[in-house]
Amino acid sequence: MQELEKEIEELENVRSKCLNCTKCGLCKTRTNIVFSGGVPNHKMMLIGEAPGYYEDMQGEPFVGKAGQLLDKILASVGFERNKHIYICNTLKCRPPENRDPLPEEKAACREYLDAQINILKPRIILLCGRVAVNSLMDTKLGITKLRGRWFEGPNFSKMMPIFHPSYLLRNDSREKGSPKWLMWQDIKEIKRVYEQMN
Ligand code: SF4
Repeated sequence: MQELEKEIEELENVRSKCLNCTKCGLCKTRTNIVFSGGVPNHKMMLIGEAPGYYEDMQGEPFVGKAGQLLDKILASVGFERNKHIYICNTLKCRPPENRDPLPEEKAACREYLDAQINILKPRIILLCGRVAVNSLMDTKLGITKLRGRWFEGPNFSKMMPIFHPSYLLRNDSREKGSPKWLMWQDIKEIKRVYEQMN
């Protein structure tokens, strides 16, 4: 427990650095830094892409409809955002009009993401959506081919790409083989591995 307290303090130091960060142009258009959500823990971290409109307004990752769907997906196997998972993004500031992060923005912000990963050393890392996959994995394969598979991540973690909830909101079918059905298979597999760690 003492170890986690020290790490929470270290994360707070990184957050403080972020609050005044001007390393890329997004500092001019952001309303709030979106540093993290959920709870710091050693078990599971979810990495999304970049803050959207509501995240920028509230300073929290995964709020709005996509965030609500993420909470439902987690709850379907008994996970709670404020109990089981630490949530962050590849970028801490919102790209205007929710465009994809530019390579120079991702490079500038990478030290904060690396710090979050290296301080907590989570045993499971979920890469949520294409941008997170492209940032953490050296592959040309798309998310559809990668989702649901375990890869070795930083610090010998188990890392799995999963669909972004925004994508699931645009694909409403629950039929076998649909993105929502695949997400259901993936979250059950994540829960299985998480339980094994207890
Ligand atoms: S996106 Fe990252 S690097 Fe760019 S200003 Fe925000 S915190 Fe700094």
